[in-house]
Amino acid sequence: MKKSFKFIVAVTALAFLAVSCGVVSFTGRKQMLLFSDSEIMALSDQSYAEFSKTAVPSKDAAATKRLNEVGSRMVAALESYMKATGQSSALSGLKWEFMLTDSEEVNAFCMPSGKIVFYEGILKYADTPDYIAVVMGHEMAHAVARHGNERMSQQSVMNALGSIASEVIGEKNGATAQALFNVGFAVGSQAGVLLPYSRKHEYEADKIGMYIMDIAGYDVNAAPVFWEKMQGGKTGSQSDFFSTHPSDAKRIAALREAIRTKPSFK
Ligand SMILES: [Zn+2]
Repeated sequence: MKKSFKFIVAVTALAFLAVSCGVVSFTGRKQMLLFSDSEIMALSDQSYAEFSKTAVPSKDAAATKRLNEVGSRMVAALESYMKATGQSSALSGLKWEFMLTDSEEVNAFCMPSGKIVFYEGILKYADTPDYIAVVMGHEMAHAVARHGNERMSQQSVMNALGSIASEVIGEKNGATAQALFNVGFAVGSQAGVLLPYSRKHEYEADKIGMYIMDIAGYDVNAAPVFWEKMQGGKTGSQSDFFSTHPSDAKRIAALREAIRTKPSFK
């Protein structure tokens, strides 16, 4: 009896796989998305509201202004490019917002809903508009490519196949979806610390982020240089940008190759 139940769960999960394929903008990679945008956005807004309660906005007006300028330019360029190429729907549900928070931590993250947070500490490395655009583009790319949804979907299938949380399939709402969301975005409990994305997602975010930089007219060659700078600044802390964005020679080489072979967006 138990065995056949497991089988049903597995078949159900596979059925979801078959009907819930998405395609990542810019790279064309197929991905499994089991959650609706509205579910992801609601969870995202909830977590962000939680984060905002304790986050202290930066008192550095000039840095805040610069961050907003880069962010607005990147978003405007991305939106007009997607509109011109008939892909606006890929950005549906994203409500971009930028926050600079008063913290020496070297960190930045983007919620799946488009809320982007920079910690003042990362501006030591991202000290020009081009470098800010590198981090901004990378973080925006995670949201555009729906990496959060994909990660939750992968986790829920693993749970279902193990029949540990078979109710995930039946009741994707409420506590279960929240628990899955927390697997990827432990924002409430750990103050904005995201668990690392997979290498595949990191490489993809580097590439798409660099494309967005190009569309917005920033110098894409700043991207590999920025990650090299980051590589030299490793701190070994478990909770910062260095641990969620491991920067190594292979990753930087992949980015250089992506720049060399990038399409023309003009
Ligand atoms: Zn990343």
